[in-house]
Amino acid sequence: MFDSLSDRLSGVFDKLRGRGALSETEVRAAMREVRVALLEADVALPVAREFVEEVTERAVGEEVVRSVTPGQMVVKIVNDALVELLGSTNAELDLNTSPPAVVMMVGLQGSGKTTTTAKLAKRLKEKDRKKVMMASLDVARPAAQEQLAVLGRQAGVDTLPIVAGQSPTDIAKRALESARLQGYDVLMLDTAGRLHVDQQLMDEMNAIAAASKPAETLLVVDSLTGQDAVNVAKGFGAEVELSGVILTRMDGDARGGAALSMRKVTGKPIKFAGTGEGLDAIEPFHPDRVAGRILGMGDVVSLVEKAAETVKMEDAERLAKKMEKGKFDLDDLALQIKQMQAMGGVGALAKMMPGMKGMKAAGDVDEKALTRLEAMMSSMTPGERAKPKIINAKRKIRIAKGSGTTVQDVNKLLKMHQQMESAMKKLKKMGGFGKLAAMFGG
Ligand code: GDP
Repeated sequence: MFDSLSDRLSGVFDKLRGRGALSETEVRAAMREVRVALLEADVALPVAREFVEEVTERAVGEEVVRSVTPGQMVVKIVNDALVELLGSTNAELDLNTSPPAVVMMVGLQGSGKTTTTAKLAKRLKEKDRKKVMMASLDVARPAAQEQLAVLGRQAGVDTLPIVAGQSPTDIAKRALESARLQGYDVLMLDTAGRLHVDQQLMDEMNAIAAASKPAETLLVVDSLTGQDAVNVAKGFGAEVELSGVILTRMDGDARGGAALSMRKVTGKPIKFAGTGEGLDAIEPFHPDRVAGRILGMGDVVSLVEKAAETVKMEDAERLAKKMEKGKFDLDDLALQIKQMQAMGGVGALAKMMPGMKGMKAAGDVDEKALTRLEAMMSSMTPGERAKPKIINAKRKIRIAKGSGTTVQDVNKLLKMHQQMESAMKKLKKMGGFGKLAAMFGG
């Protein structure tokens, strides 16, 4: 699955991996290659373009977590963007209606619709312990109803007895009635396919939907057809209310273009993936697992996640230690601001902290102001951050200029630091450090 896309991407990352630091130029060059890899995988052009822009923006702006390399960081960023592109979380079936819940299967001929109907029925019966009935509404192809009956016997799932000469909507009504009377939980309707999306087919689908009120309407498409699969989904989606997509033949899909473009282009989640000819070859579509398979770098991703966790802990401990000594310089303040942002903003934190309730300066800082504070602090020299007392009028002007702020802003920042420093000292006297350290660690 996704082998050629995987190979291309790992080639790109191999080049990044050895580097100590990555420049913006290097990131951009790598992302151009990612873009080519995506297009070769038959990902829709606007999707590939937006993906690469998004990743570049994140990768260039992102601070590299200590103890991982920038290359590893980029892998993690690409991974997260892939997961998002694929739909973030697994979209499950929603069958919570009064039984029988109708699952209507639609799609073009040859997409694997009938096989997938049987696969899903078997899964619902065996995994979810549902009582499932299947019915074929395909009266266009002579052997279609018989095909489903055969698959039903193989899967151990009941099928509606065949009555010749009925229209699709009549079969749907009969199936519904029969499923209701016999206490089935789920009724799966396998509708007729066509070679192309045509109006007659869409009218038939809508008539069946009106007669059976499906809880789920799942479109089956062949992943091997790449962008065509996405276009078919767009075509169906415009006419019929779809609740999700099932991608078949993912087992043979080396490129992955359909999987990657589907969600973004159609707005419909991929709910399952067909992974072989056997009746058990169906899997819920998990974006994180699929992204993992595409990148083949699960080890790097979890390494970066762990490193980020560790750094947070280390920073919290370092801060707590310094405060215990009664020291609190502007570097500490910068670090603390970052942690505050992560913890839901200054206002929230100031309220939580003993001895800080009265701190107007901190409480009044809004989230945008935090960004300004960071800019001012990065315009200071390390010496100034370590010993804010040396910041005289001349230095204040320089800092304000460098950060696009005013001297008043710099004064406010220094005042805030002073207040926090004295609060720390007060706290030290109160012996409240354990509590505070625990809070920063959270
Ligand atoms: P329909 O015309 O859409 O109903 O398609 P069928 O269900 O008859 O399937 C056509 C062929 O595709 C059959 O030989 C299936 O075994 C095969 N098929 C369906 N899904 C998959 C899949 O996920 N992987 C593979 N390898 N073959 C599949």
